[in-house]
Amino acid sequence: SKTRGRGRYEFFDVELRERVQRQLRLEQDLREAVVDGQLWMAYQPVVELRSLRTVAVEGLMRWHHPTHGAISPVEFIPLAEESDLINLIGDYMLRTTTEEIASQRARRGLDTRLTVNLSARQLDDAALVPTVEEALVRTGLPPQTLCLEITESALMRDPKSAGDVLTALRELGVRLAIDDFGTGYSSLAQLWRLPLDTLKIDRSFVTGLGKPGKSEAEAIIKGIVTMAHSMGLSVIAEGVETDRQLEILRELECDQAQGYRFSRPVSAGELFPRMTA
Ligand code: C2E
Ligand code: CA
Ligand code: CA
Ligand code: CA
Repeated sequence: SKTRGRGRYEFFDVELRERVQRQLRLEQDLREAVVDGQLWMAYQPVVELRSLRTVAVEGLMRWHHPTHGAISPVEFIPLAEESDLINLIGDYMLRTTTEEIASQRARRGLDTRLTVNLSARQLDDAALVPTVEEALVRTGLPPQTLCLEITESALMRDPKSAGDVLTALRELGVRLAIDDFGTGYSSLAQLWRLPLDTLKIDRSFVTGLGKPGKSEAEAIIKGIVTMAHSMGLSVIAEGVETDRQLEILRELECDQAQGYRFSRPVSAGELFPRMTA
């Protein structure tokens, strides 16, 4: 009926208003969070499948909100991307992760590499390349030990200018990876022109591995690995949770993996003391 339809409309209206209000509040809070030290970096090991050795760690941002508690980067990174906050947060992230890894490498004699996430907006920021260069110079981290992850969708927004930024980053000597590969619409033919080192296969494909009736996941990963290797790229599988998934990925000659099977993302204080040179 008409009244029911109207009631529903108002319901959605209220819901939408509340969502927008929460976002506005969070955006304000996020500004304070940076200054206030509420943001911190978690690290997840990246394991080489041939040796099962941790060869790198991925830095993943965490926000401990004073009243809401833990807020996921899935919620706050897009918020930050709507304003120029992402550049502030991105600078903080690059500075803290490079400092942490440089100091852990020196203290423990580790050769662990660092990989971090860049968002689409950061690629558009003219300050990105100098900021990365500064972080390397200040910490003395060898450029080839830093890898920058960019999602397929961020690259495809404006492939031409993204290509220019990637080329400038590559000239610094850092490595470049495509994140969430397989979820966008790019073809390997488009990526071929970009100066890439690594493809990270999205968790959605890994989840299907070894499940009855889901053999297409295995075929897709096999195809990605074969093509990536023929293009000189290495392959990382993300979201590996079970022994079975690990076993299949090793059979498919995937190079590296990360996921709860090895470790959840944890604080540096929890991760590094259990790592040995
Ligand atoms: P991502 O880069 O694809 O990171 C992988 C996500 O999967 C992480 O979620 C990680 O905690 C989670 N994960 C790892 N292993 C497993 C597993 O075995 N099973 C399951 N179910 N999940 C697993 P997280 O930390 O919540 O980060 C979500 C996304 O937020 C990231 O996706 C990335 O796109 C973004 N993000 C996180 N930190 C940063 C950052 O510093 N800068 C930027 N620009 N984006 C970030
Ligand atoms: Ca990532
Ligand atoms: Ca990913
Ligand atoms: Ca993902």
